[in-house]
Parts: sequence; structure tokens; C-alpha cells
Amino acid sequence: MKKLTRRKMLGMTAALIPLTVISTRAMAGSHAKDENMADGKSHAGHPDTHLDPKNPQAAALQYTHKSTVEGKQCWNCNLYQGGDADWGGCPIFAGKQVAGAGWCSAWVAKQ
Ligand code: SF4
Repeated sequence: MKKLTRRKMLGMTAALIPLTVISTRAMAGSHAKDENMADGKSHAGHPDTHLDPKNPQAAALQYTHKSTVEGKQCWNCNLYQGGDADWGGCPIFAGKQVAGAGWCSAWVAKQ
């Protein structure tokens, strides 16, 4: 087995830095498309965690980022886990965040 010298190790590390920068930028670019969701608004910063209303389960429950049902929004739904935040978790859509101003047909009055 060849001995790895400090000089070689530094050289390898230096070669990896540009690759890391390139892959990070490529990932940021791929997320840019996701930032504009169905409501046409930008959700920069959380493109992967915000629930897409086109998601089959979301569509089945008529989820929308902006409720049109008077007096019913995720903020006052018993299942909303985001408190007063604009986005928060919901056990119906595990791993995703729903809009506080949103709504779906599983809405349950806050206790
Ligand atoms: S169940 Fe529906 S209305 Fe209630 S927090 Fe979840 S997405 Fe919003």
C-alpha cells in the first residue's frame, strides 16, 4: 500500500473543493424551479419542504396554500403544528410543511 503524504492529502483536498462548490451550485439551480409553486408565489428557502398542492394526496384533500373557506385556515386547524408561523407541519402530510393561510378538507377546529 502506498503511503499517503501530507502533501498528497492537501492536494486531494484542494481538488475536492471546486467539485463541492459546483455540486452545491447545481443543487441550488435545480431547486430554483421548485420555488414557484402552484399559487405562483415564491417559497424561497423551503422549496423541498413546502407541500406541493399538486401532490396526489394534497390534491385529493383539496389542499391549497391560501384558504378560500371562510374562517378555516391551517392556523386554526387542530392539526397544524406551526403555531403562528407562516409554515408548519401537519400530520396529514408527514415530512412536508403546509401554509398557515392554507386549508384542506381534513380541517378540524382547534381545541
Ligand atoms: S389538516 Fe389540512 S387544514 Fe389542517 S393543518 Fe393540515 S393541511 Fe391544514
